[in-house]
Amino acid sequence: MTKTVYLDNNATTQVAPEVVEEMLPYFHEFYGNPSSMHFFGGQVNRRVEDAREKVAALLGAKPDEIIFTSCGTESDNASIMGTLDRYPEKRHFVTTRVEHPAVWNLCPYLRSKDYRITELSVDRNGQLDLEELKSAIGDDTALVSVMWANNETGVIFPIREIGELVRDKGIVFHTDAVQVAGKIPVDVKADNVDMLSMSGHKIHAPKGVGVLYVRKGTKFSPFLIGGHQEHGRRGGTENVASIIGLGKACELARDHFTKDMVRVQQLRDKLESGLLEKIPNAIVNGDRDNRLPNTTSIAFEYVEGESILLMLNEYGICASSGSACTSGSLEPSHVLRAMGVPFTAAHGSIRFSLSTYNTEEEIDFIIQKMPPIIDRLRSMSPYWKKAAAALEV
Ligand code: PLP
Repeated sequence: MTKTVYLDNNATTQVAPEVVEEMLPYFHEFYGNPSSMHFFGGQVNRRVEDAREKVAALLGAKPDEIIFTSCGTESDNASIMGTLDRYPEKRHFVTTRVEHPAVWNLCPYLRSKDYRITELSVDRNGQLDLEELKSAIGDDTALVSVMWANNETGVIFPIREIGELVRDKGIVFHTDAVQVAGKIPVDVKADNVDMLSMSGHKIHAPKGVGVLYVRKGTKFSPFLIGGHQEHGRRGGTENVASIIGLGKACELARDHFTKDMVRVQQLRDKLESGLLEKIPNAIVNGDRDNRLPNTTSIAFEYVEGESILLMLNEYGICASSGSACTSGSLEPSHVLRAMGVPFTAAHGSIRFSLSTYNTEEEIDFIIQKMPPIIDRLRSMSPYWKKAAAALEV
């Protein structure tokens, strides 16, 4: 059987063995409901609170500012809907053109509810113009939501500066930090963030658990209305084992995942320079200086991303493409389109996203396998034939 070479960690990560070990007793041994009055539930409740402390420590927050949710998408939805609900007279929401669908796909819905939306543009590097943000904010703006780092390109936005600017205008600031937590340092206080979303399965905890940080004093209505869990800020019996696993993952992130990113970045850089050196007409998408250490999005011009992925599959290599084919459309991703990446490059864009579990041998393997794949696909591409003739490649 082919060995799996997994470089799709921005999609999801392996659950760390230490996390699995920490979770297991909470399925069959300590299975009480943390809300129960008896000792059996109480001991579980204490472990949920330990996990809350560990998450808070990773983010520089206080434990009572942490709300457990089911995923990053819920955290994004809850922060936006929960804030808009508290400012019914304010009908303007500011975000960017490159957000994850968890925010981006809320925009048409909000428009249908008579909200005015400003989607800030990005330049060819995927960066924002802060002057555009400044002039977008008006008296009727309820909330600004800007992702911390982009899931497709890894481009990092200057969140501290944006947070300061938004705070000076007296407006609530939310950031989607799903790709950031555990990869680069986060300090919600110093970074001027009022609300922040994160997701367990991006940081070696399981799928089905997320976090919403809400700074003390920030007005916010619960999105899931039900029991008194999470101090009435999110109804529903807690996903105990996963919450405990997320706590452990946050502890690991503080102890070593974030430091491991130095090595991960070296592997990413080796992969990138190896591919750029061996493959003509390969271009990195996005700002190379302000990027997550684990991510590279490379456009292999004049070929189709899906075909590259299929051929990589044969070698057990998992990556992801820059087009939205999963949504049934052949359109290139909205992120690459917003950056003005030409069609012929956006279509052939592949995202490699690494984790602490990747090795140098895996990187060497990809550098060896990719060039013949691109050569083969280009030999079948009518676009490449035309382009190559013009470029005399
Ligand atoms: N936000 C960003 C930036 C993401 O990358 C993702 C997932 O890829 C999400 C939100 C959604 O997170 P979840 O899969 O936990 O709902």
